[in-house]
Amino acid sequence: MCFKRSYTTSGVFMIDESLLKKLKIGNLQPEFLDKLEDGLEELQGILPPKILDPEKTLYELHKHIKKQKRNSKAQQKALEDAEKMILSIAGLAHARAGQIQPRETREERKERRFRGVDSLIEVRMLQSKITSQVALTLKESKEQLTEGNMEFRIETERYQHHHEPVKAVQEYDAVVLICSDARDDPSLFRDFVDNDILFIQVAGNLYDPKDAVAKTQLDTALRKLKQGGELIVVGHSKCGAVDANAHAGHYVGKVSGHVDMLVEAVDRRHTTPQAKDDYQANAINQAMRLAEHPIVFKKRLQVVPCLFDFTNGEDKLLTYLKDGTEPPLVTSLRASGISRLKYANDNHYALASQYSHAIVVSDPFDLGRFSNSRMLFNARLNELFAVSAFGKGLSTEAIASIEYALLKVNGVKDAPHIVITHSNPETAEELKQKMLKASKIIRDKTKNGAMITIMQYDPQTHAVSVVS
Ligand SMILES: [Zn+2]
Repeated sequence: MCFKRSYTTSGVFMIDESLLKKLKIGNLQPEFLDKLEDGLEELQGILPPKILDPEKTLYELHKHIKKQKRNSKAQQKALEDAEKMILSIAGLAHARAGQIQPRETREERKERRFRGVDSLIEVRMLQSKITSQVALTLKESKEQLTEGNMEFRIETERYQHHHEPVKAVQEYDAVVLICSDARDDPSLFRDFVDNDILFIQVAGNLYDPKDAVAKTQLDTALRKLKQGGELIVVGHSKCGAVDANAHAGHYVGKVSGHVDMLVEAVDRRHTTPQAKDDYQANAINQAMRLAEHPIVFKKRLQVVPCLFDFTNGEDKLLTYLKDGTEPPLVTSLRASGISRLKYANDNHYALASQYSHAIVVSDPFDLGRFSNSRMLFNARLNELFAVSAFGKGLSTEAIASIEYALLKVNGVKDAPHIVITHSNPETAEELKQKMLKASKIIRDKTKNGAMITIMQYDPQTHAVSVVS
């Protein structure tokens, strides 16, 4: 099945001609200018060579492209894409400048219909703020989560309309240990519908057997994994935990005891020929550490290290870091990763630095089939920082992951929003208290405006609703 996002009208703001007319090409920020140049490159030979006149406005450019003759279907599409790109850049430029207009009223909408759609252009406000990496307010962050969950439920219902109802997982085919980083997520709806995968999310995609809670959690996960199943470690390029280990002097003893443990559990030694850089090395070494687990041996599990590299082209997006045949699930995650990356690129998501409007803490068992909380909120690449907590247990690495995000991740550090999702709100509340007790950083942040939201997950409808 094909996974497409459905758009609703909530979070839409309007750009009218007068706003487009205010945006001079010469005044655009360099990254938007780069996007324009790249986007128009495909139209070489159709458009005049010096179309990007700094004195002209985006309105004039848009109009010029709209007027072009369309001699073939390919030209038609290329010109339409260019029109859309200009509008999207205008939206982003306005969002960044903070000139976002509120959603139109019913009367305004009527009037716009009456005047004709051409004079006003719809751009999704929250999406524009996210892609231009402007921090969402706590209220907006909640809105974005609620809307994303609605989209996810529409998708699930659509699926169930044509297929069997989504079943509960009895036994997992694979456990995926993956970094909390908002960019490290190659999965789509189809992966969870077609496979029984348990996602465990922790900064640095690491496993520290010294941490009793982490050990119990992994034991439980492996017990639910089928005989001969796969344990896949997905590291990623530009991983903050790996970089922190490389600059341990800036972190160890300077942030918190939890962060010390996390940084020290990273292992960058190049132990196999597949380790071409430190990020790959850490994924390989974490996998090797897991391979020593007694259940892995007993159940003949396959331990598979991979690297998700969104800085490279499609062919190098997900590298399998082991000899021998690649498991089919890795191939399927790569295909999904390519779709996600393409979506991110087409919609101007910047991936060079991490951005997240919320830290989502969830129990992968509690979420059932859709064990990756990002799935539940229909989050694209670089939207949500995700941390796993099983039941009421919070590992040292999980606390360290949250602390790291609160201090270092764009979006979250500006408007800290922690969301605890569980089907039982009492368990979520206990986790909240545990988190506050364990971490001075989380305590201090909540004293200074950070919010911890509790959301209840309904396993029947997949709805997630705000409790407090
Ligand atoms: Zn990472």
